[in-house]
Amino acid sequence: MSQSRHRTMPPIRIAILGVFLTGLTALFPPIANHVAAEEPSTGLRIYFVDVLGGAATLVVTPERETILIDSGWPGQDDRDPERIVQAIRDAGCERIDHLVTTHWHIDHFGGVAGLAKRLPIGTFWDRGLPEDGLPGESYPDGPKPDDPLGIAYRKASQGKRKILKAGDSLPLRGETSAIVLAASGKVIAAPAGAGPNPACSTAPGALPKDGSDNALSIVLRFHLGSFDFLDCGDLTWNIERDLVCPVDLVGKIDLYQVTHHGMDISNHPTLLKTIAPSVAIMNNGPRKGGSAATVQRLREIPSLQAAYQLHRNAATGEADNTAAEMIANADPAGGRYIRVSVAPDGSSYKVKLGADGPERTFTSH
Ligand SMILES: [Zn+2]
Repeated sequence: MSQSRHRTMPPIRIAILGVFLTGLTALFPPIANHVAAEEPSTGLRIYFVDVLGGAATLVVTPERETILIDSGWPGQDDRDPERIVQAIRDAGCERIDHLVTTHWHIDHFGGVAGLAKRLPIGTFWDRGLPEDGLPGESYPDGPKPDDPLGIAYRKASQGKRKILKAGDSLPLRGETSAIVLAASGKVIAAPAGAGPNPACSTAPGALPKDGSDNALSIVLRFHLGSFDFLDCGDLTWNIERDLVCPVDLVGKIDLYQVTHHGMDISNHPTLLKTIAPSVAIMNNGPRKGGSAATVQRLREIPSLQAAYQLHRNAATGEADNTAAEMIANADPAGGRYIRVSVAPDGSSYKVKLGADGPERTFTSH
């Protein structure tokens, strides 16, 4: 929250100013089609920042609290931290209150050092580091203490780290909630009396165990009024299935971040069918994710009204991508985000390509 100070102006000067402004309004009546750079938001906003096949999803609550889920790639002159900071500024904010790292892959925590140089970061949330010594936890992909990115993360987050487990929630102000549905390969407990999910009778079988950090991703469900958003990081097939079978632990979702950049070892069909999203947004790159099988699975979701991609997959044909007008970046170098604006009561939401692109409205479930 920014503090604004008020200075008192003598009444005579207010009167003169009033006359002056009235005159100006008469001379320059408001232009009907004027578009503000960014209108102030009273609802929830979600920015899918283009980090070219990495992940960086910014959530801004009605209370102007900022939650960044993953921080993109390192290097390239801090390209990804710059893009993330731009989205934060476009939202009218100046800091990251909560930085969640879903798992220990370079495209998800590589931007931390660049961000820490540019703006204050409140709390760092992750699934633990090897040195935490959490019983039963494993860290197949590090970060090892001598990994330069691991060193940078440890330095930036020193004294500000907290660990998330399935069932935890982020401590947000106001009405928005963010609950952890899975972390470190474990899913949230089923609510008492929950019945079986009928969709599981036709669920595809398990794949060989994924021994990478992807399977250990933190999964967050955001909720405001009647709106729900699901971000599963890079979660893979078997744990995705555990989220909805034998019991549905997720519930209905409006907005779905297509998991794992749209790779087909993620986005389990039974999860997609069960959560029944209206809109899917894929954070793929021109050469990362966006598999044809995933695009097809999205088309088969009966409830889905729109599937967006940050990029066209350069390796597949037009028929294996979403429609051209649903792709945020025509330029493979990218940099244009997809912005979602949720009404204060969560009853509807708008999806916009970039800060100035076309916008479409959807009704929440
Ligand atoms: Zn990834």
